[in-house]
Amino acid sequence: MDSGRTPPSALASRFQQMFPVLSTAEIERVRHFGKMRRFLPGEALIQAGKPAPGMYVLISGRLAVTGRDAVGQALPVAAFAQMMGATLEDMAEVVPGEVLAEIGALSGQPSVSVLDAKAIGEVEAILVPPEGLRALLIAEAELGERILRALILRRVALIDLGFGGPVLIGSVNSPEVTRLSGLLGRTGIPFRVIDPDQDADASVLLARFAPSSGELPLVVIPDGTVLKNPTKQELARALGLVATTLRSDPYDVAIVGAGPAGLATAVYGASEGLSILVLEALTFGGQAGASARIENYLGFPTGISGQALMSNAFTQAQKFGVEFSLSTEVKRLDCTSEMSGPDPVHVLHLADGRQVRARAVVVATGARYRRPEIPNLSQFEGRGVSYWASPVEAKLCREQDVVLLGGGNSAGQAAVFLASHARHVRMLVRGPSLSSTMSHYLIERIAACPNVGVIFETEIVEFLGPPDPGLRGVRWRNRRTGKEEEHAISHVFLFTGADPAASWLAGCGIPLDEKGFVRTGADVRSTGREPLPLETGVEGIFAVGDVRCGSVKRVGAAIGEGAGVVAQLHTFLARRRSATAGARPAEAARSVAPIA
Ligand SMILES: Cc1cc2nc3c(=O)[nH]c(=O)nc-3n(C[C@H](O)[C@H](O)[C@H](O)COP(=O)(O)OP(=O)(O)OC[C@H]3O[C@@H](n4cnc5c(N)ncnc54)[C@H](O)[C@@H]3O)c2cc1C
Repeated sequence: MDSGRTPPSALASRFQQMFPVLSTAEIERVRHFGKMRRFLPGEALIQAGKPAPGMYVLISGRLAVTGRDAVGQALPVAAFAQMMGATLEDMAEVVPGEVLAEIGALSGQPSVSVLDAKAIGEVEAILVPPEGLRALLIAEAELGERILRALILRRVALIDLGFGGPVLIGSVNSPEVTRLSGLLGRTGIPFRVIDPDQDADASVLLARFAPSSGELPLVVIPDGTVLKNPTKQELARALGLVATTLRSDPYDVAIVGAGPAGLATAVYGASEGLSILVLEALTFGGQAGASARIENYLGFPTGISGQALMSNAFTQAQKFGVEFSLSTEVKRLDCTSEMSGPDPVHVLHLADGRQVRARAVVVATGARYRRPEIPNLSQFEGRGVSYWASPVEAKLCREQDVVLLGGGNSAGQAAVFLASHARHVRMLVRGPSLSSTMSHYLIERIAACPNVGVIFETEIVEFLGPPDPGLRGVRWRNRRTGKEEEHAISHVFLFTGADPAASWLAGCGIPLDEKGFVRTGADVRSTGREPLPLETGVEGIFAVGDVRCGSVKRVGAAIGEGAGVVAQLHTFLARRRSATAGARPAEAARSVAPIA
């Protein structure tokens, strides 16, 4: 081994996995899922900034590959090659047997490419469209795993390099850039921020796009579209995260919410043959996606970041053909108007005015962060006050003092995570101890962090500083003595619990408990029906995860309920089918789909 070489990163050892070359036998198996295409010299198979038509497997000839991002910056091939432990030649050409694709090819949604791939001489390649790729991944377990792993690793490498995807032009510390970076980071989309105060190239871009005040940040999408200070929804739409074509005929199941409960329902439901649409107001992952490290999820002894766990679940669901529409809030559920006729359905009314029909609905909307009663809180949300601590926020508070409000497990995790970035973390806790609100292992972890201090019986009474440019200080009070203190702090994290996100069910007659959680199973028997265990008081509407009354507020529990509800969905759909066909109940029981 060359001792003078930079030690390869973790990615280097994965070069072969990232760029597998398929054997002749494997190519033959891929052939069943696509069709052969021929290209003339110089013809493009994929163009940067345009949606790719699916996955290519090169059969003969060679391809020249170059990469460029939304503002034309070339892929840092040398850095990429060094990171992979590969040569520049390895990186620049695709050879027969190699797979040319990106993870976006799985969804069939218009995700955009960062690569230009052109034929050198005549080229033959198999083109596998998105539906063929999904079928291949399921039918060819071993080969499918090699291909899927390659696609996931390629996306991880782009995120590591900060290359590809949209380019944000605006101040790194601005709340707008933080807001949009949060969406992109949580959705696993590579992106780059160019700060006009720090980057010489920015002035050229600003002159080119000439924004007026209030229009920053600019977001340049890989297809060249420029958005001026977009909302999260506008950005999501431009990136193809919002489904543009929703079926007009009914889905078997519409799942509302793509946290762990919704994603588990989607994976188990689609793998057992149900047609499924997931509607998610923000992005996949829910509260779990905001967790810096989940240490109590079965099978991950060293813990796993919530984003990684949820992003794998999202990919897995897409593999089984689940349709997703992210940044798509459900505003209202109508459980009466289309319940007569041969195929009764519930109607979901979306915030963008569209409607979706489904035979069964799974409510997996979890909980929303509680906003503590601090008079000027709203002025500082996103301007120094956050409800989660992701790597985006951690970067902003590097080597600074931060304050964290709350004494539960999520507060504990965030304190431990922030301790490795911030100079000092103060936890303000309302009660006199942590033992009744936090897991023992986290209390020990916090005690072992020299730069984390816990201040008991204390609450924040005021945020200080003009909202623009952002938080400058915090005043807090000891609840027992009434003594108040002011401290210069620019970053506060609020972890003060969550309320059920069930207001969109109002008007549907679904029984809730006194705190607004959705009642299910035995809890709603008084309605005169014999509901299935996770069914609500309205037939065909189920609830799983944190939004459900009596649920255990844990990732594992949410995933368990998501998996469990699928058998009940099959039972419900089979009963409904036999009722509408006039079949006898005994036949209905036999027609329940087998659960693997
Ligand atoms: C910071 C943090 C750390 C945590 N760490 C751990 C841990 O280490 N271990 C553990 O076991 N648990 C942990 N938890 C708890 C765990 O994350 C939750 O119990 C779990 O995420 C609940 O899953 P869920 O799918 O029921 O709901 P959620 O995760 O809340 O997901 C609900 C989803 O529904 C969406 N939604 C809401 N309303 C609508 C609507 N009207 N239309 C469309 N979509 C909508 C939301 O945007 C959200 O994405 C943590 C929680 C937090 C906040």
